[in-house]
Amino acid sequence: MPLDKAKPSFVLPKLPFAENALEPVISARTISFHYGKHHATYVDKLNELVAGTPYESMPLVEVVKKSARQEKDKAIFNNAAQAWNHDFYWHSMAANGGEPSGRIKDALQSSFGGVKEFKEAFAKAAVAQFGSGWAWLVKGADGKLKIATTSNADTPIAHGETPLLTADVWEHAYYLDYQNRRPDHVKAWLDRLANWAFAENNLG
Ligand code: MN
Repeated sequence: MPLDKAKPSFVLPKLPFAENALEPVISARTISFHYGKHHATYVDKLNELVAGTPYESMPLVEVVKKSARQEKDKAIFNNAAQAWNHDFYWHSMAANGGEPSGRIKDALQSSFGGVKEFKEAFAKAAVAQFGSGWAWLVKGADGKLKIATTSNADTPIAHGETPLLTADVWEHAYYLDYQNRRPDHVKAWLDRLANWAFAENNLG
């Protein structure tokens, strides 16, 4: 079926909250730039790059997985992965993230020894990620939860892992609010924004 060329292949998904919903941990100004400029630009750029290629009719997740294996499609991978990562990131946050409970708390307990231990390990990894990237809580093939970090656009879905939650540690995610203080941002993110209901849902 020919695609309607007037219609872009990929659209910027709606934010799952109001731009000011995460204040004071993340300001409306940060969300406005991060979503309205950075995320939107990845989607726009992806549409330009996939035009006339087999990627334009694939679901975004397939574009990420397939382009990850093609060195010549690096630019497509970068923009597709960033489009996917950001949508996952917005859902990884909630104004009332609170503390984990139920199945996800049990899973953190058995994989890390406790919620406190998990937070310490996640914060350490997020802060240690050199340069731009992401910190993730993922479910491995053995069902155990683990912490992963990826650089730039890289994403666990390109490596066959199941992400449960992610924190964006590119400077654009926190610089307006925290400048160079990534540790303070990560701590506030973990304590106040991490969306445990979303993480639990991703456990499957
Ligand atoms: Mn970002």
